[in-house]
Order: sequence, then structure tokens, then C-alpha cells
Amino acid sequence: MDRRLFLQIVGAGGFAATSIACPKFFGKGRRAAEPPVPLGIPTTCELCPNKCSVLASVRKGRIHKLNPNPENPKSRNMLCARGNAAIQQVYDPDRLKQPLIRAGARGEGKWKPVSWDEAFDFAAKKLAETKAKHGPEGTLWSSTEGFQEVFFKNLGLAFGSPNILRHPSLCLASVNLAYSMTFGTVPSFDLQNAKYVIMAGANRFESIITPDTMDLIGGVMERKAKFVYLDPRFTVTASKADEWYPIKPGTDMAFILAMIHVIIREDRCDKAFLDQWTLGFDRLVEHVLPYTPEFAEAETGIPAREITRIAREFADAGHRAVFYAGRRSSWYQNDFQMRRAQAILNTIVGNWDREGGMVPNRKVAKGEFMFLPWDDPKAGRVDEVEKNFPLASAKDGVYLQTRENVLKGAPYPVKAWMIYKQDPLNAVPDQGKTLKMMEGMDFIGVVDIAMSDTAWYADVVFPESHYLERTDPIEVMPGIWPAAVLRQQVIKPIHDTLPMLDIAQGLARRLGLADYFDYTIDQWIEAEARELPVENGLEYMKKHGVVAFSEPKYGTTRNAAYRFVTKSGKIEIFSERLAEAGHDPLPVYASPAQPPSGKFRMILGRKATITHAALAGLPWLHEQVPENDLWINQDQATRLGIRTGDLVQVTSTAGTVRIKARATEEIRPDCVFMLHGFGKRSPWLKLVHNVGAADAVLLETAWDKVSGNAAMHETFVNVVKV
Ligand code: SF4
Repeated sequence: MDRRLFLQIVGAGGFAATSIACPKFFGKGRRAAEPPVPLGIPTTCELCPNKCSVLASVRKGRIHKLNPNPENPKSRNMLCARGNAAIQQVYDPDRLKQPLIRAGARGEGKWKPVSWDEAFDFAAKKLAETKAKHGPEGTLWSSTEGFQEVFFKNLGLAFGSPNILRHPSLCLASVNLAYSMTFGTVPSFDLQNAKYVIMAGANRFESIITPDTMDLIGGVMERKAKFVYLDPRFTVTASKADEWYPIKPGTDMAFILAMIHVIIREDRCDKAFLDQWTLGFDRLVEHVLPYTPEFAEAETGIPAREITRIAREFADAGHRAVFYAGRRSSWYQNDFQMRRAQAILNTIVGNWDREGGMVPNRKVAKGEFMFLPWDDPKAGRVDEVEKNFPLASAKDGVYLQTRENVLKGAPYPVKAWMIYKQDPLNAVPDQGKTLKMMEGMDFIGVVDIAMSDTAWYADVVFPESHYLERTDPIEVMPGIWPAAVLRQQVIKPIHDTLPMLDIAQGLARRLGLADYFDYTIDQWIEAEARELPVENGLEYMKKHGVVAFSEPKYGTTRNAAYRFVTKSGKIEIFSERLAEAGHDPLPVYASPAQPPSGKFRMILGRKATITHAALAGLPWLHEQVPENDLWINQDQATRLGIRTGDLVQVTSTAGTVRIKARATEEIRPDCVFMLHGFGKRSPWLKLVHNVGAADAVLLETAWDKVSGNAAMHETFVNVVKV
């Protein structure tokens, strides 16, 4: 997809169908003829989790154009606006160009450019000092997803730290855990073939445009699927839906439980499926008795007759009906149970592993590089995940609990923080607390390509090479259209930057850990390519960039011998594991707290051009969304004497920001909204420095009780005209 079409869709609310190329792929059990070698250097986009396949055209050593690589069916032959803007990221004059060591106070902005040796020596000395004083557990290693994240994590693990902290508890931990607890895996949603789609808050036509958004857009616009959308705001997605309901924030679970109530009461479930594959349906029947449509109307504000009708239509669409799970699920303190309710609703209509329903992900096989193993850490995690969130991933950790415990210095002090490709000052609620955590550190090292706010407060900044300047491990992308993709170097680094593997090796050599990193990226990917389902795997990947299955496959788990990876081996509507961990084994609804008089619930969202806030400062993307503002209901604004464009002061118990107001009828009166990604502290991020406001300043510390996922829609604010 070209950039202009993408912008038409996400910007003006306009719409256009995109043609989807159907290249030849390797179907199961056969090997197709090798497709023609594509024009351009095949590589893989890094600018969102979809990882589309890219062909880079290079002229005289400079990247001239990025194009979609049609060989990856998951990419649907598209490259979105963010993907195109990667060129600007490479040639951004404000990129980090060489290692820097802080020369003034933290945050003062005084930097000394240094050589890589100086940067490594400095950081290794600080890390070794921390280890000598507090043990390896006195260090924290936090990162967000990326193909080279493995090398960063491995450095922390080889160093002996138990405190590897990844991004899911700021994003999708609750949805992942809820679906895993129910099905033993996290499925994909076959939106391209669905006939009835319900989406709550997942603003897919506006907040993240990826190929599966295009599936839904195609289906909805060609009227192949009915689309019901719930959101307190009238978004671009709402404008494209068949039906939009401005649901009261935090009440989605009441809506879902009432749908289950109607479907069971009217005997519209897929009985045969429930009998054969699930556990606990009988207990669900009793459990949902009180959750009538009338009950849900009082909670959600959606009329009972509409809930009843939607439930009937949903059940009638059967296995081609999906209640879509969405991506970021860091909303409310009951988020895990709300997602469990979604999973159960999907289950009772029997859409599991069916065309147009929920489909378990398939994977393309690949090899592993065998590196020298290290001893397990001796200390437990500082966030005490096993005690606080026994069902959550101990490998990923829980961000907010980590910060709470580090601030308390319990169960032990953590005094050094290494950060890869992440900006905790903006990604984590309550910026003031994160700043306090940083102040308490004896050492902070940041690896990034730009001077993020967090890098601005670091002691040493390691500039990473851009994804178009380096080769990364081969990554397996599971899904309905699974693929293995290679991100390979397109141009040589234009500045004095290094890939994360080289940064890990530079530090490892000085920390006595060199043996654990005694390999090259070529050796790593060679081992991975050995088990790819193509001949001459490495050569193939270098020529094509992707190996993928051509056709979706349905029903692989619907056979009598299949055991789900759950305690019972079945789909668990009722979960004994949840009961044993002290949680509700079936989702129990409680009314959310309401904003006190004069206050509003703050809700957040994204725009597709800046789904990841780090992109908000790239000129092509910035021109689409130059500043964020505060959406406030027109009647409330009038009552407060606020007009569009007025500067308002927004205050929570966590902090205060100033931002321009947008008075609009397109939001409920009980909440206000702002986009993520603005109000940056770092002056090096010129286009977004002090422009608009950062939501992280306002967000209070709250988390989902089961998964530990941050709850970012639980903050009440007051708004006054400045
Ligand atoms: S959807 Fe866009 S940003 Fe995401 S991987 Fe594809 S091209 Fe890159």
C-alpha cells in the first residue's frame, strides 16, 4: 500500500480497498517452485509488531525507496506510512551518532561524545561496582520487543540478574494471559473470513493499521461482515462500523456477560462443540443468570433490546462470529477477567479453529543457535512475580510492581538500570515516580537510535544501528499466515553506531562474560536457517527475506486426540487454576468506580501514523498529527467555559499538564481523551519537545489484579481553563 492511500484511510477517515497480491508460497507438504528473485534488498520492517516484509532499493549507497515484498502473505503486499517513514529515521539529523557520556547533572543535557571503548569501559565499571555492592540482582534490564532484544536479555541473564523486564505488562499481558488460561494458547482472529465482528475500544481503523486491519476494512467495506463497535468516543473506526455504541468506560464485561446470558437462555450455543471440547459450561449457565440485558443496560448505557439483538445475531453467525480481542489491553483493573469473558463468549458459539473464527497460530520451523549456557540467577525477582502474580510471566516481569519495589528498596536494592529500545518515562504511568526511580539509580545505561526522554536522563547512551543498517536474527512470526523473516542489512551504518549484539559483546568482554557471546550474527542466522522448510535456507532467506505458508489451515485442533495445553486438556470455561490462585474461576463483574463530581475518567489512544510514540517526531508522520489535544464533551466544555483551542490545565493525583482543548460531541460527558506520544522532555526530539502533553505525567499507578498489566484508564482528572 502506498503512503498516500494509507493516509487517506487513517487521516481523513476516507477509505479505499487495497488489492492483495497472491504470490506463490510453500503450501504444507509440498515445495513450490522458487519465486523469482525480487527487485531490491529483502529485509523486514521494525516499526510495529507486524514485521512486514520489505524490499529496499538502494542507489549510490543511499536508500532510495522502501517497497512491500509481496512474498509475505502476512504483509498483504503493503507497507504503511510508518514503514515508509523508516527512511527518514535513518537520515534523521537528530539521530544518535556516537556514544555519549553524561557531563552534567542528570537531565541537564550536557554530554561528552566518546569512543565505543570509553563507553564500554565506563558502563562495565559501573555495572561491576553495582554487582560487588548489591549482587547481580542489584541490576535491572528492561527492554521492548525487537529481533536483537535476545542479545540484551542474554547479557542481563549472563550477568546473573533475575530482573529481566519486558514490555507486555505495559501492553497486552492481560489479553495474552486470559486467552492462554482458557485455550492454552493465544489464537489469531480470522477477520478476513468473519461474518460478524464485535470490537470494544480496539480502534483498529485509526490506531494501528496493519494487514489484519486491512482484512477487516475489506470485509466491512465490502459488506462481507457486520461490524459492531463499542467505544466512549466516535472514532474513525466508529464511523465505519454498522453500529456504534458509546459504552460507559469500564463496563465492557457487563455487555459481554449479558450476551452470554442471552445466548445460553435462548439455547443458541454450539452444544456439540461445548460437550466435546470444553470444561465448565454447566457452571457458566448458573453463573450468568444475574447478568441480564437489563442489568447490562444499567451498567453500560446500551439498551437491553440492542444487547439482546446483537447477542442473537452474533450466535446466528456461529463460527464466523468473533468478539475481537484487540492488542493493547492495559485498560482497567479487571482487564484479565474482561478478556476471559470475551474468550468464553467466542467459545460458546463454537468459533474455535474454524474459518472466520479464532484460529490457533501455526509456526514455520527454524533452527536455534546453541550458545554457552549460564547459571540461573541466585536471587528471586525484585517484583516477586511468583508471589504477587503467580499466573503472570516470570520471564517478562511486571513493570509497575518492579517500580514499586525498587522505590521501596525491597526485597533488596536495585541500583543500576540498563534499558534497550524503550522509553519508560513515557511508556510507564506516573512519570514522576519513574523519575524518582531513576534518581535512585547509581547508574543508567540506554541503548536507542534517538535521544528519548529516558536517554536524556541516562549516564551513558549507546547508539544502536538502525534496522536498515544491520542484520538481525531470523524471526518466526506465528499466525494464520505464519512466516519466518530475515532482517538483513541494506546499507552500512552512516554514523558511529553498532547493533545490539556488538554492544552486548563489547560489555561482555569487559565483564568477564565474553564466552557467552562468542559468535557472529552470521553464525547465529546460519544455525537458524538450517531447519527452515526450504532448501539452502540461508541463501533463500538472503534472496527472498521470507518463508511463508500460503494458505490458512483450519481445524487442526478439532480432532479427538488433541489435548489443549490447559490443566484439563480442554478449553477451560471454568478455570480451576484461577480458583487455586485465589481468583474468580469465572468472570465476575463489579461496577467500576465513577469519577467524583467535577472530574473525568481519562482514556488514551493512538493514531496509526504514530502507533509507537517514538515515531511522533518524524516529519512525514508528524505533519499528520502535529500535536495532541484533550477531547472534552461539548456540554462539559461549555459548563467549564472552555472552547476548542483554549489551553487547559489537567490534573490527577500523579501530576499536572497543560494542553489545548478540543470541545466535541464525539466523546461521552464522563471522560476525556488524549493521544499518546507528545509533551517530550528531550530537546533533541525537536518536533515533539514540549509540544502537547505526555499522558504518563497524569496516569496513576494501577494494575490488573491477575496479570499485573498496567491499568491506564483508571485515572480521574479535573480540567480547568488556564
Ligand atoms: S504495518 Fe507498517 S509499521 Fe508495521 S511492520 Fe508493516 S510496514 Fe512496518
